[in-house]
Amino acid sequence: MSSSNLVIANWKMNKTWEEATEFVDFFLDKSLDKPTIIAAPSLYLQGLHLRNKNPQISFAAQNLYFEEKGAFTGEISIPMLKSLSIGYVLIGHSERRQIFQESDELIAKKIAACLSHQIIPVFCFGEPLEIREKGQEIDYVLAQIKSGLALTQLNSFKQLVFAYEPIWAIGTGRTASKEQAQEMHLNIFNALTAEYPKLNPEEITILYGGSCNLDNAASLFSQPNINGGLIGGASLIAEQFLGLNQI
Ligand code: PEP
Repeated sequence: MSSSNLVIANWKMNKTWEEATEFVDFFLDKSLDKPTIIAAPSLYLQGLHLRNKNPQISFAAQNLYFEEKGAFTGEISIPMLKSLSIGYVLIGHSERRQIFQESDELIAKKIAACLSHQIIPVFCFGEPLEIREKGQEIDYVLAQIKSGLALTQLNSFKQLVFAYEPIWAIGTGRTASKEQAQEMHLNIFNALTAEYPKLNPEEITILYGGSCNLDNAASLFSQPNINGGLIGGASLIAEQFLGLNQI
């Protein structure tokens, strides 16, 4: 996926139904340059999927539980998403890790479940500020990736999307420089090709996330190992998100 970028909007816990449909309707007649995924609140996924007529847009859940069904109040499962034709899900977002105490072990179970049911996880990871200040960010992130994939037998890099999101850059307005982001993405790319020598490296997709916006996206997306963006705040306004898509 190195040549064509992918952009994913992460709406988090934002937008009423009316606001969500207005956003999707804005894109009905827009031609988009890149495949575009909207991670919307799960309550809206079916409605938005049925309403959307833009072939470049698809939808993702922001979370799921790894079990297929049962007594897990408040959770949603992979078969539920698949029954609504939702093909993507964010896994391991730092807000899930920090606020909801999701562990590497739980994330590994979720990723393994996604892959065994052919749903594409957008696997998120990234270091906190104190780790970067100690210069340990590369080892930290590579260890997160290794544990996230520990229960998974990867057959192709098309089975998932990687998203590097330094925690100090998420929602802070402080983005990684293109050099910092590229250095991390290159290390991730090299680690993946070393760990999975039989898989096609051209199919690796590594997105950058963390205060990505119209001012900084062009320079970030032009880096050789940055294959697009996972975008929070700047994805909430349709015109801005369209601009990010056209970079
Ligand atoms: C995110 O939450 O995935 C994210 C990248 O947020 P923001 O763009 O607001 O930093």
